[in-house]
Amino acid sequence: MFDSLSDRLSATFDKLRGRGALSEVDVRGAMREVRIALLEADVALPVVREFVEKATEAAVGQNVLRSVTPGQQVVKIVNDALVEMLGGGDGAEPAELNLNVNPPAIIMMVGLQGSGKTTTTAKIARRLKEREGKKVLMASLDVNRPAAQEQLAVLGTQSDVATLPIVQGQQPVEIARRALQSAKLQGFDVLLLDTAGRLHVDQALMDEMKAVADIATPHEILLVVDALTGQDAVNVATNFSTQVPLTGVVLTRMDGDARGGAALSMRAVTGRPIKFVGTGEKLDGLEQFHPERVAGRILG
Ligand code: GDP
Repeated sequence: MFDSLSDRLSATFDKLRGRGALSEVDVRGAMREVRIALLEADVALPVVREFVEKATEAAVGQNVLRSVTPGQQVVKIVNDALVEMLGGGDGAEPAELNLNVNPPAIIMMVGLQGSGKTTTTAKIARRLKEREGKKVLMASLDVNRPAAQEQLAVLGTQSDVATLPIVQGQQPVEIARRALQSAKLQGFDVLLLDTAGRLHVDQALMDEMKAVADIATPHEILLVVDALTGQDAVNVATNFSTQVPLTGVVLTRMDGDARGGAALSMRAVTGRPIKFVGTGEKLDGLEQFHPERVAGRILG
């Protein structure tokens, strides 16, 4: 991921660094190349526009062009803008889950079918159990996809995390209610609700999610998005974020060779931090998202 973006940006910045003095024309030329590189990496157009505008404004500032190392200063400006675009800056830590509540903390997972929602639910459950010693309950509210509830039960067994017993014929809101009751009665610290997906965003899906959110009053609503879907991922995120109060994003398939645009656009499009990235099919393939490190990898 990010390889071709990284190559293009290094080529641009090598040219800049190679010169002793820089004019405004040089900077604007370089920023045009940055713009093209970001668009080719599938970053959403409005996000690119804002990025380039801000970085150009900072870079043509008098102090930068007059400094002894203008090329390096421009690279630093682009780096800082990239970190900000990814949700970091000012020593920000990676975005954590909000578990500091009266238990059970309720985490609702939303997203399209096939985005990796069920796998991610189990990954997060496993992580909370293993790293933080939390007592976690998972419940699948997906009554649309055949065997979705069984899939979560299998993942629960694999990672030794409890799942809500399946009762055939119950609707999502009823399952959510039952899950909440079980989590409270049995003293779970965290309840993860894996909601149903659809192939496309539609109103029925949104209505169902809102009804579940009303019952469950989640502390976290995490949108799971497949990073390999590029611009589509951006459209999905835009749609979801206008309809449900998301608290964060999980980008799956970051182990694939996507061009990276989804990852770079998500924060700006949703206004919410990327909390985790999925890095494999296995249950240990989940990592926190570090804006500084990702920006560093892109700029080499
Ligand atoms: P759901 O329909 O959204 O619940 O999607 P699933 O959790 O069933 O995932 C769909 C497929 O994507 C499964 O084959 C998963 O193993 C795979 N998958 C999920 N997350 C990742 C990831 O981060 N990397 C890779 N390579 N595969 C993933």
